[in-house]
Amino acid sequence: MHRTLADDLSRLPELLQSARDFAAREVAGLAERPVAAPGRPPGRAPLPAEGAGGEGTLARFAERWAPGFSGSAGPRYLGFVTGGATPASVAGDWLTSTFDQNISGAGGSWAAELERETVAWLRELFGLGEAHSGAFVTGATVSNTVGLAIAREWLGERLGVDVSRSGAAALGPVDVLSGSPHSSVAKAMSVLGIGRDRLRRVPLLPGNREAVDVAALESALADLGGRPAIVVANAGTVNTVDFDDLRAIAALKERHDFWLHVDAAFGGFAALSPEYAMLVDGLDAADSVCVDLHKWLNVPYDAAVQFTRRRDLQVAVFHNSSPYLGLPTGEPDFLHLTPENSRRLRALPAWFSLVAYGRAGHREIVERNVALARRLGEGVDALPGLRLLAPVRLNVVCFTLAEEEPTQERVDALARAVAESGEAFLTPTVYGGVPALRAAFSNWRTTEADTRRVLDVLATASG
Ligand SMILES: *Cc1c(COP(=O)(O)O)cnc(C)c1O
Repeated sequence: MHRTLADDLSRLPELLQSARDFAAREVAGLAERPVAAPGRPPGRAPLPAEGAGGEGTLARFAERWAPGFSGSAGPRYLGFVTGGATPASVAGDWLTSTFDQNISGAGGSWAAELERETVAWLRELFGLGEAHSGAFVTGATVSNTVGLAIAREWLGERLGVDVSRSGAAALGPVDVLSGSPHSSVAKAMSVLGIGRDRLRRVPLLPGNREAVDVAALESALADLGGRPAIVVANAGTVNTVDFDDLRAIAALKERHDFWLHVDAAFGGFAALSPEYAMLVDGLDAADSVCVDLHKWLNVPYDAAVQFTRRRDLQVAVFHNSSPYLGLPTGEPDFLHLTPENSRRLRALPAWFSLVAYGRAGHREIVERNVALARRLGEGVDALPGLRLLAPVRLNVVCFTLAEEEPTQERVDALARAVAESGEAFLTPTVYGGVPALRAAFSNWRTTEADTRRVLDVLATASG
């Protein structure tokens, strides 16, 4: 064994203690460190010829790189939909690496069964029935990709084609219909050989909405002349957190032949609160469902869950069996369900957080985030330099400069001024053709006082 490796082995407890102390200082200072990294990253160092050992490496990381990491896990990083990592989930994440299990299959370990327990809890949390099975993936993009891959296989079933063997081309042109799809849906279509251009935007409801017009969806389906299609319903759009009427869309199945995929990446968390659960009413009727976990569950990157009612088709797409062994039966190993073969125990941080805080604790995070988004929305509305572009429907505030036609440059300058203050981080968007900013609340630590600080910096920067 190499000398430094042997040294580290003999001092492993001390190394882990140092890493723990370092992490504890970071977490303690997280709420106060600049939210966005200042300055430029260091130049590239040469590949180390001789190793520095674990302790030396920790010191080097602390000096060269850590100062430039963002406070994205902290309470005033409101860009994208980011979320942080609950205390218990961080502990679970450390132990994922400590045990370093490969969850491709059972492999002499109980770990895969822990993933199944976690998936069953999540299914219940989001109000899905037992007909849905699930698996962990790295994020909502992959969850959407897996869902659409199963949909693609279903189209093959309807058209008498084995897509997994013959390829997507055997289907001919595929129709994917959606109102306000996330950009990752087009990416998934590209990956799956369906093609980005096959995404058809269905008109939205009138009156400043991002939800699909179900009557328009029905006539788009009718125009297909009986050809089966894929519908992507959106449960929580990123700009204004609008929700498609899932129950009404599912009811269209009585008259039209389509696979219903629901992208509930963060909107699925509405199910945790009795006040907002009606927004995802009908989710259980979906054929496949995507929910992100590194967003509103507040577990570390990267984690999402993918649910489907058609595990048989999922296995047809993703199975990794030798042809002479045949398809797996019964409870398939995870390597037959997702793009990865070898997989880390991504479920453990979620398991820790669910055990530590339960349904009630995670509901409180959701409800507090929504209340704070409303508070910020009222504050923004009252500022002379800003105006809301949409009502605060759940956890995102979408707003722009008060002037009549705000330019992209002026909005970007506002975003930059906010980031440079170190107080908050917001991401730009375009809503209804208007350059805008979004403030997305999804972090477990965000408080009323944080929201006041964000409002203060917005008042200064827009004043
Ligand atoms: C964030 C998001 C995605 C993509 O999620 P990743 O975790 O970044 O892959 C997809 N859909 C919606 C609605 C999202 O908010």
